[in-house]
Amino acid sequence: MRVLVLNCGSSSVKFAVIDTVTKEALSSGLVENIGVDGHIKAKGPVGKIDVHFNCPTHAEAVAEMQKFLLEQKLIDSIEAVGHRVVHGGKYIKAAPVTKEVIDYLRSIILFAPLHEGAHATGMEVAKKFFPTLPQLAVFDTAFHQTMPRKAFLYGIPYKYYQELQIRRYGFHGTSHRFVSAETARILGKNPEDLNLITAHLGNGSSCSAIKAGKCVDTTMGFTPLDGLVMGTRSGSLDPAILFFLNKKLGFDIDRLDRLVNKESGLLGLSGLSNDMRTITQKAAEGHEGAQIALEVFCYKLAREIGGITMALPSLDALVFTGGIGENSAVVREKALENLAIFGFKIDKQRNLESGKNSGHIISTGGSRPLAMVVPTNEELLIALDTEEYAKSIKK
Ligand code: ADP
Repeated sequence: MRVLVLNCGSSSVKFAVIDTVTKEALSSGLVENIGVDGHIKAKGPVGKIDVHFNCPTHAEAVAEMQKFLLEQKLIDSIEAVGHRVVHGGKYIKAAPVTKEVIDYLRSIILFAPLHEGAHATGMEVAKKFFPTLPQLAVFDTAFHQTMPRKAFLYGIPYKYYQELQIRRYGFHGTSHRFVSAETARILGKNPEDLNLITAHLGNGSSCSAIKAGKCVDTTMGFTPLDGLVMGTRSGSLDPAILFFLNKKLGFDIDRLDRLVNKESGLLGLSGLSNDMRTITQKAAEGHEGAQIALEVFCYKLAREIGGITMALPSLDALVFTGGIGENSAVVREKALENLAIFGFKIDKQRNLESGKNSGHIISTGGSRPLAMVVPTNEELLIALDTEEYAKSIKK
């Protein structure tokens, strides 16, 4: 089946047409700058496009994408649409796109202000453009709904969970789910028989503890700010730092929000960049800020992994994924050095090759647990979920 996978942001629409049989993307692209000066960059079987166009709203963005997919001779073969949704709130699994789902996403806009409204708008527009196709919303939080209460509750008065649903939700769930299933497939094991830590390291980063295929703890929390040090996000920090900055420097809520979401992490620590390529390169050349950022990133990564590993009865493998996890041998090596207590033994050559020539394993033959690199593919999993839904309603 051919599935159109959409990821609607506040000023962008990312799309891909996935063939669920070959598991390949036939076309992919991005419409950005919605509301300003629209820009579509996309490729497909017939060719590429990179043009600016008048794009006041998401409707014009989806229309431009549709026009492109028509030129690529793909539009008529698309049988279903899958939507990536950052925050699913109460949803414990993917849900068909209905007015109820769209209204619910708008009702939890405060949970993820940059995303939920855009997802809801994207769904309404996609419903208009593809009225006959089955459409499914796939939530990044859903995979984490199996966490036990002791893992998802914060140590604040219980009434705030009951009344305002303040709890750990976790994010990147589609990636953690894909990578854990893929790891089982690669190792020739039943997911039921594996205990894993998956480390999704990109601009945003999170780790999950996965017991017998189910998430039992994760590092991101009520929002994607919690947990690891990221590109521009601080990760978890003592909340009293915020009170202190408010009292000492007069920082209000918006200023603090900007500080911890946009000015911290690798960027804030290094004073240089949020990009791990730059950080590792400059650190190797002796830039002190880059060295500090790399050191803190890798130590915090190991510390958080150590923390969530106690949710597992034992550990079979630590699996790296995401832009940094898949590509940075330096980060993997430093993280594993910090995790020596678990008994990892890294194979430096395999690590440099990202495990590509060695069945994804970057640890030595004698290492227990294994250390692995498994590329993520969130779009494929959304497409497969959507196909399953589309087939189920045809029956
Ligand atoms: P997003 O969270 O936006 O999806 P990605 O998963 O694409 O992000 O990851 C982006 C991060 O991956 C950036 O910090 C980038 O520097 C890093 N990255 C990509 N390639 C490499 C590489 N070869 N070495 C180190 N870091 C890399």
